[in-house]
Amino acid sequence: MAGRRDDRSAEAAEYRRWYNTARWKRRRLAQLEASPVCEFCLKRGIVNDGSRQMDGSVQTNPRRRFLVADHIVAHRGDAELFWSGALQTLCPDHHDSVKQAEEARGYSTEVGIDGWPVDPRHPSAG
Ligand SMILES: [Zn+2]
Repeated sequence: MAGRRDDRSAEAAEYRRWYNTARWKRRRLAQLEASPVCEFCLKRGIVNDGSRQMDGSVQTNPRRRFLVADHIVAHRGDAELFWSGALQTLCPDHHDSVKQAEEARGYSTEVGIDGWPVDPRHPSAG
């Protein structure tokens, strides 16, 4: 078990480095410029540029005043998904809730513009 945990943290350390690259910072910035508010808040009629909580109230914790360029399909260390997978802009609240639900379920329920789940692990995605 200890060996397994070591393997996983080595993998995690590998892809955590990708977030520190100029290439990722450019990609993240381009996403936040193209889509400068939380996309989940927006679906609920809340324009959240990072200054609000998911219920629309003012974000009082300055450490949570930011937006996340989130991989719609969790990359889990997959370089192709990390660099080329579609991104969405999320507030920290929505990022946390999406990731927690995904971890619990094992797949994303996000639906693409064609109306089908974007995550190949989704049961209806075949
Ligand atoms: Zn949000």
